[in-house]
Amino acid sequence: MKKSTPNLMSMLHQLIAIPSMSSVNPSFDTSNRAVIDLLACWYEALGFTVQVMPLPRQPHKANLIATIGPAQEHGKNQGIMLAGHTDTVPCEEKFWRFHPFRLTEQENRLYGLGTTDMKSFFALIIEAFKRFDASRFKQPLVVLATADEESSMEGAAMLIQETSLPVRSAVIGEPTGLKPVNAHKGMIMNGIRLIGRGGHSSNPALGLNAMEFMHQVLGELICWRDDLQRRYQDNRFAVPVPTLNLGHIQGGDNPNRICDQCEVHFDIRLLPGMDVQSLHDELHTRLKTLLAGTEIDWEFFPLKQGTPPMLTAKDSRIVKSCELYSHAAAHAVAFCTEGPYLTKLGIDTVILGPGNIAQAHQPDEYLELSSIQPCVDILAKLIAEHCL
Ligand SMILES: [Zn+2]
Repeated sequence: MKKSTPNLMSMLHQLIAIPSMSSVNPSFDTSNRAVIDLLACWYEALGFTVQVMPLPRQPHKANLIATIGPAQEHGKNQGIMLAGHTDTVPCEEKFWRFHPFRLTEQENRLYGLGTTDMKSFFALIIEAFKRFDASRFKQPLVVLATADEESSMEGAAMLIQETSLPVRSAVIGEPTGLKPVNAHKGMIMNGIRLIGRGGHSSNPALGLNAMEFMHQVLGELICWRDDLQRRYQDNRFAVPVPTLNLGHIQGGDNPNRICDQCEVHFDIRLLPGMDVQSLHDELHTRLKTLLAGTEIDWEFFPLKQGTPPMLTAKDSRIVKSCELYSHAAAHAVAFCTEGPYLTKLGIDTVILGPGNIAQAHQPDEYLELSSIQPCVDILAKLIAEHCL
């Protein structure tokens, strides 16, 4: 049976031509639905059972789960899931040499937004799949395509409700230069707002200076960071401790007015073993203790949904397969992925895909032509091992 999907270059052209930018800033945000519908059409033509799942809070965006091969009634089996996100970051066209939404082949590279991060991956899965007769599959192959990885992570987060993913192993095709990644840090972004009282600067008793209290809060954050770095270390990472970066501060309006409000934003990069909720609770308690007995009002709030850290055991089957087929040892990276949402579902997950993270989120994003065939070969070996 010959499969009725376009050839690889045509698929890549079509995927790049559809904008699917996601951003927490609504003026840059677009839907991923047209990409999902295109993938649904291709995978359905190949015999997959396709499920399109609109996001609960953004129903104009959706995830896709495409499954082929026998699934067990109960429990998970040995098949494999190949996964990725369909959204890209927004782009500033004026900084691009090439049109971001027109696939351009030049210098042995394919230029376009989402070539490496990471819409191409879904076409490469199809290339690998076409080598097989799926009626011979003894275990399922699942393709997961998510929404909003670059912004809210809502697509991956909604999978926590999903109980029907029938596999124990997954590979996410984020750009890793085709080298397997089994661990990454997590990230949370938070803000603290202090609300005092304004007044004439000539008499401090006329107000309550939020900026002076912020001075204490910043000291407490740095002290807490030292404490976290003493408690947690992991030599798999180039920066082997959790980090806390003070990234933004705003407060007051005039030198001769007592500052009535001050706000700081910071991120924390968590090591595997650290828990997002426990960290929030810990900081909340420290702030409560620090500011107890003062008149200052304060709020502690997340700026976006945090991403947990990921760690997949080195001796798990999927890590070993990926190491074998890529001829590279699994390692840790600094960037975050949707992997932890899959590991939470009991799916051992490795990050391995073509292209380099240095090209992601940049003008003139590209995928090296030379990385395409090796990627398809690795995917075909993974499918053969886990599905036949
Ligand atoms: Zn990505």
